[in-house]
Amino acid sequence: MKRVRFSVHRTVGEARLLEGLLAGSGLSVEVRGESLAPLGGEIPSTETWVELWLPEEEVGRGKELLEELEADQEAASRTVECPKCGEENPGNFELCWSCGLELPSELKARPRLRAVP
Ligand SMILES: [Zn+2]
Repeated sequence: MKRVRFSVHRTVGEARLLEGLLAGSGLSVEVRGESLAPLGGEIPSTETWVELWLPEEEVGRGKELLEELEADQEAASRTVECPKCGEENPGNFELCWSCGLELPSELKARPRLRAVP
C-alpha cells in the first residue's frame, strides 16, 4: 500500500487530535516522527515536527475531515449572539448556554465531528 505524507504538525497533541479524527473515521493513518519528541504530557516545544501519513486512496477523505475539523475550530473561535436573550455563545454551540434556545447556525447543515478523546 503506497502511503503519502498527509500533514505536518508542530506538536504531538495537534497531530494526535487529527490522527484520532482520521482513525475514528476508519482511515489507516500512520504517525511518523513522534519518537523524536519527548514522551508524555503536553509538549511545549515548537521544534518538534510530527507527520501524518495516509494511504494514497484515503487522502481525499482525509482532506474532507481536515476541512471539517478546521471549520469546527473556526466556528468555535466565533461567537453567536442568542436572538432571544442576547447572550453570546461560542460559534460551535447548538443551544444557547443561557436560555437553551436553539441557535441559528450554518454548521448544522454539515455532519458533526465525533468527539476525539
Ligand atoms: Zn439565549
